[in-house]
Amino acid sequence: MTAVEPADAQDSLSEPFLVRHLVALGLAVEYVRAEGNILYRRGADGAELPVLDLVGGFGATVLGHNHPELTRYAAELLDARTPVLAQFSLHPWADDVARKLNAVLHREFGTDEPYSVIFANSGAEAVEAAVKHAELDRVMRVEALRREVEDGVREARTAVRGGAALDPAARAALTAGSAGVAGGDGLQDAEALERLVREVAEADAPHWDAPPVFLAAEGAFHGKLVGSVQLTHNAAFRAPFRALAAPCRFAPLDRPGRLAELAREERRTVSALTVADGVVGVTARELPRVGAVVLEPVQGEGGIREVGPEFAAQAARTAEEAGCPVVVDEIQSGMGRTGAFFASSLVGLRGDYFVLAKGLGGGLAKAAALLVRQSRYRPEFEMAHSSTFAKDGFSTRLAGRVLDLLEADGGALYRLARDTGERLTARLEGVRNDFKDVVKDVRGRGLMLGVEFHDPAAAGPPALQEHVRAGTFGYVLSGYLLREHAVRVFPTASATSTLRIEPSVHLSEAEMDQAESALRGLCRVLRDGDGDRLLAG
Ligand code: PMP
Repeated sequence: MTAVEPADAQDSLSEPFLVRHLVALGLAVEYVRAEGNILYRRGADGAELPVLDLVGGFGATVLGHNHPELTRYAAELLDARTPVLAQFSLHPWADDVARKLNAVLHREFGTDEPYSVIFANSGAEAVEAAVKHAELDRVMRVEALRREVEDGVREARTAVRGGAALDPAARAALTAGSAGVAGGDGLQDAEALERLVREVAEADAPHWDAPPVFLAAEGAFHGKLVGSVQLTHNAAFRAPFRALAAPCRFAPLDRPGRLAELAREERRTVSALTVADGVVGVTARELPRVGAVVLEPVQGEGGIREVGPEFAAQAARTAEEAGCPVVVDEIQSGMGRTGAFFASSLVGLRGDYFVLAKGLGGGLAKAAALLVRQSRYRPEFEMAHSSTFAKDGFSTRLAGRVLDLLEADGGALYRLARDTGERLTARLEGVRNDFKDVVKDVRGRGLMLGVEFHDPAAAGPPALQEHVRAGTFGYVLSGYLLREHAVRVFPTASATSTLRIEPSVHLSEAEMDQAESALRGLCRVLRDGDGDRLLAG
């Protein structure tokens, strides 16, 4: 097997435009083997050349590529002809995953409330399952309110037939709202009531049918499918598709109070008739409107930004006030990378829902999960939602084994992630201290780290300026690091001047040496304004 030559890649039929970009940036490489933090490509002589992978499958290879215990287990499963697809039968190993996740929740959040688990195939799909579950819950609450309002009308009619009067304020509103009619004062109570029922129904009709609004943080990334992309802040990903699903409004991370303001702005009420002391009156009832507040504890694609405890607390408060769930998206931050299984446990944010994906399949299977706390769980969801491949026998068994590995030895891997992350951060901070004119910031927690670069000076090479304008500067840096230092990094999807550093927990000192010296090399080239070296393909 030989590497795909750029000339072949140019003719790619799969994502041809993307592949041409990779070719132009020197990133069109075929990897032929993967182990731990190393991906292997082939050199011109056919020999394998190691590349240090700091992208880690966009954060999915928490345990590294092809973890030996997982590949052995996967081979065993295939050899044993384990059923992969046997829908609508018992899946005890999936239940085993759910039990293990509950044990982690219990330990990290001190909760005894069980969470039900719905499996999915990808992160965006799990987010969409969360969105759908929240919407089923909201619609059911809207319907319950509608039944109460209808009961109120029936009770009001009975009361008026029995001699109850219409509240004068309700009559006055009726008079004011009925142009060309003699006025509520001249009507019998029964007629006035019927007019009131009609007018209230007309005024409230658009509210009852209004779609939900979701709330999230600026910089958020929750997926790119039709529903989840609405929750992804980056307009380049979201805006063309905003007509396709319920909208989301975004609050800046440094203004937690904005979340509460947005919820207030979206507040809608409907009128309900009530009978008290022989008088029929109208009261405003709050309509469930906000679908969910959705939050990553550490934003990944938004440039590796930790969400502060204040914003997290406000998200929980806003959700509670709006009567909706808070959905904690741990797709990138979860599975141990930040030093705890759930990064949200480090800021005291317990979700009503959690979503997991990426690392759950151990880097070998596509697995994702939605966790919903019992008090908010709608069993009806299980018949309303399904997917052929979700909860399959292969991925769920692997997920169970991944959880065993993470939880082994009293959580030794979480401590390893934290300690390795601290050592790596210290090195990255060292680079920043020596190159403050080049490196703007080093951020993150555990092994979810970001290195943000200053845009190169406007006086720099025009070709580089063009990349800055096009948002591809971070990809140029990635091309350089791959070509010159055999280090694989990528920018975060929505903040492309920030390189993501998300190796596995088994990153060695030697690998850290390589990462540090590569970054120093990059910084020197950037400081020298050596555009030719950066861009040489
Ligand atoms: N949520 C978060 C926080 C993510 O980082 C991602 C992927 N980068 C997603 C959702 C979407 O996951 P997927 O790519 O598996 O659809």
